[in-house]
Amino acid sequence: MHMHSRAATHGSRSRNTAVRSGHNATPVLTSPAALTGNSGDDTRWRERAISAYRQSLPDVAARLRAELAARLAALTAQNITAESIYANSEEQLAVVAVDGMVFRLRRHELMIVRPCSVCGVGQFESPAIATLPELGHALTDWEPRCAHCTEADPSNWLDLES
Ligand SMILES: [Zn+2]
Repeated sequence: MHMHSRAATHGSRSRNTAVRSGHNATPVLTSPAALTGNSGDDTRWRERAISAYRQSLPDVAARLRAELAARLAALTAQNITAESIYANSEEQLAVVAVDGMVFRLRRHELMIVRPCSVCGVGQFESPAIATLPELGHALTDWEPRCAHCTEADPSNWLDLES
């Protein structure tokens, strides 16, 4: 009781609204009790959070597949089955090939993956694609270059330095 009233008094200088909200307001984080650490009866909150996260992964994978299929249906009118989509819920990633083009959904951003446009090696993610013109850009004028081909092409040096 004594600790509680001291914390409330201290907090009233900088947190008027919070303290005024009720006589049983929770002590602010600057109270000594909060800083010395609360070792509560139940210390398994980390395990519970991690367990909840792991249990959510199958749902996340299903959502990723559904989102990628929906985005592609809206954009290309292609009917993509969820089973054909690879999903990695730890990385928030879904990938599928459509007519030889690899589409990738990462954290709600859709992009295509193409190799270096000069030597054909590597995998490069396009800028995020939200519209049909943006998809068209990624398919044509977007020309990914690997580090080797960027160095070998003098016309790119100015771009790199600007
Ligand atoms: Zn290259």
